[in-house]
Amino acid sequence: MNFQNKSTTILLAAVTVLILSVVISPGEGGFIIYLFRGLVFICVIWAFILFITSKKKNYSGNLMDNERKQVDSPKNSEIDNELQDRYKYLLRSIFNTIRSINPDYQGAVYIIDYDNHGFALQSATSNEFLEFVPHDQEILKTILKHKEVQVLQYQKNRDGWTQLFSEKTWRGSECILGIRIVNKDVSVGCLLMTVDHFSKTQERDREILFNLGDLLSLGIAKIEKIEELLTDNNYQDRILDLLDTVDIFSDEEVLYDSIKTLCYSLFSYDKFTISMVDPSNNLPSVKFVDGIKEDVNTGDTFSLDFSLHGKVIKEGINLRSRYWENDYPGIGRFRKDENFNINFSAVLIVPILMKGIAIGSIALERLTSRSYSSSDERLMEHLAFTVGHFLSWQGEYRKMHDSAIHDGLTGLLNHRAFMNRFDDEVKRAIRFQQKHVLVVLDLDKFKRINDTHGHLYGDYVIKQVADILQNSVRNIDVVARYGGEEYMIILVDTDQTNSLAVTQRIVNNIEEFKFSRNGVDEKITISAGMAEFPKDSDNIKILIEKADKAMYRAKKLGGNKVEVYK
Ligand code: GH3
Ligand code: MG
Ligand code: MG
Repeated sequence: MNFQNKSTTILLAAVTVLILSVVISPGEGGFIIYLFRGLVFICVIWAFILFITSKKKNYSGNLMDNERKQVDSPKNSEIDNELQDRYKYLLRSIFNTIRSINPDYQGAVYIIDYDNHGFALQSATSNEFLEFVPHDQEILKTILKHKEVQVLQYQKNRDGWTQLFSEKTWRGSECILGIRIVNKDVSVGCLLMTVDHFSKTQERDREILFNLGDLLSLGIAKIEKIEELLTDNNYQDRILDLLDTVDIFSDEEVLYDSIKTLCYSLFSYDKFTISMVDPSNNLPSVKFVDGIKEDVNTGDTFSLDFSLHGKVIKEGINLRSRYWENDYPGIGRFRKDENFNINFSAVLIVPILMKGIAIGSIALERLTSRSYSSSDERLMEHLAFTVGHFLSWQGEYRKMHDSAIHDGLTGLLNHRAFMNRFDDEVKRAIRFQQKHVLVVLDLDKFKRINDTHGHLYGDYVIKQVADILQNSVRNIDVVARYGGEEYMIILVDTDQTNSLAVTQRIVNNIEEFKFSRNGVDEKITISAGMAEFPKDSDNIKILIEKADKAMYRAKKLGGNKVEVYK
C-alpha cells in the first residue's frame, strides 16, 4: 500500500470511529468515552494533515517526473529572459560595430509597436533618441518604405527631427543613415545611425549599415524561430543548451559539437554526420562524425551527384527513409560505387540552408529499419534552420566586424582597432616582460601629390605606402593607418637599438620606390619617430605623443629621416 492509500484509510477509519464515538453517549462509558473522543479528534487531525501533505508531495513529484511536458511558469520566464538576453546581445554587437566604424556615430533601433500605433525604441547608444515615436513620423516612414539605406539630412527634414529626438540645439549639419528591419518580408522597424556632420559619413558606411540591417532582420527571425521551437516544451532545455554553448565568436567545432550533443539527446542513431560545402570548390566534406566512423570520417570529401548525402544538399530537400537502398536505388551514401561493409537502413538527412541555399546537411543513420518519425523530421528541420541562421548570422557579423576594424583604402588596421590592439600588446608585454617599439610615420609634403595629380593619385600613394610598410616588417608586428597619410607600427618584442635599422630600412624603401599610376611617376619620402615601451612610458597615449614628437623633429630636420625620442 502506498503512502497516499495508507493515509486515506487512516482518515476513513478515524472518521468512522469519530461518528461512532459521538453516537455513543458519554453516560454509557464516562471518562473512557471522553478520552476516546479526544484521541479520535487528534487522530482525525493527524490523518488529515498526512492526507494533505501526501497530496502535495505527490503533486510536486508529478511535476518533476513530467518536467519536460509541464509548462511551469518560472521555466518559461527564464526562457524569456534568455531570449531577451540574446536579443540585447545582438543589439549590443550591432552598436559596437557601428561605433567601431566611427565613434561619432550614434545608433538606435526602433521596432513597430502595433498596440500604440508607433515605433518603440529598443535600444540606443545615446539618450537623445525618444522612447516612442508616432507611426506617421516622416523619417522612419521613409526608411521603412525603402529597401536601400536612406540618408536624411537635418536641413531637409527639420520637422521630422524634432519628433525623433529629445530637446537639443541642432547645428544644421546633422544627418541620419537608416535601414529598415524586415521580418517575413514586412518592414517591422529600422536601424538608425546618426552623426553630427554629414561629411563624416563615408560611402562604405552605407554598405555596412545595409548589412547590419540584414543581420538584425536575420537575428530577429532566428530569435522568433527559437521562440516557436521553445513552445515545443519537450525540447526547450536542450535547445537552450545549444544556444548556451555557442555564440557569435564560437569556432565551427564548438557549434558542431553542440549540435551533436543535442541530437544525441533527442534521437537514436548509429552514425551522426554534419557535412558542409566548401565554397571555394563547391565540394561537400564531412565536418563532424559521431558513432560509426569506419566508413566515412571527418575530413572526407564526397560527391554531390549519385550520393544520398549529396542529394540532400544538391536539391535542398529533406530525406527520410526506412530502407534507403530500396527507396534510392543506383546511388551510394557518399558516392556511387562505394563498398563499405556496414549496412545502414533508416536515414534522416536535412539540409542546412543559408539564405535559401543548402550549404550543408545534418544526417542521422541507423543500422536497423526502425524508421525516423515525421516529428523527428520536423525537429531536425528546425534544428537545421537554427544552425543555418546561426551560421549566416555569424558570417555576416564576422564580415562586418572585419570591415569595421580595417581601413577601407589600405586594408590596414584603422585608428580605433589599432588603439585596441596596442592596448592588448602592452598588456601582453607586461605579462611577458617584453619591450615594444612604437613607430609613427607621416608622408612628407603629401599635399603636393594631391594638388598636382589629384585625390585618386593621392589614394594610390597612401595604399602603396601601406603595402611597403606591411612588407617591411615581420608578421607579428602591427601596422595601422592612423590618419590620412599617417601610419603607426608596433614592432613587437624588441627595443629601440635593435629596431632602428628596421625603421631606417622602411624610410629607405619608401624613398627608393617609384610610384607609377596611369603613366604618372612620382617619388615621395616619409618621416619616422620612435619611442620605446616601457622605457619612454608605459602609457599608450604618452608613448604616442613621444613618438610623434620624434617624428616632427625628423620633419624639421628636412624629412626622409628617423628620429628616436630623447
Ligand atoms: P608634412 O610634410 O608636414 O607632413 O606635409 P603634408 O602635406 O604631408 O601634411 P598635412 O598633414 O598638412 O597634409 C596631409 C594631406 O593629406 C591633407 C589631406 O588632404 C591629405 N589626405 C588625408 N587623407 C587622405 C586620403 O585618404 N586620400 C588622399 N588622397 N589625401 C588625403
Ligand atoms: Mg604629411
Ligand atoms: Mg599628416
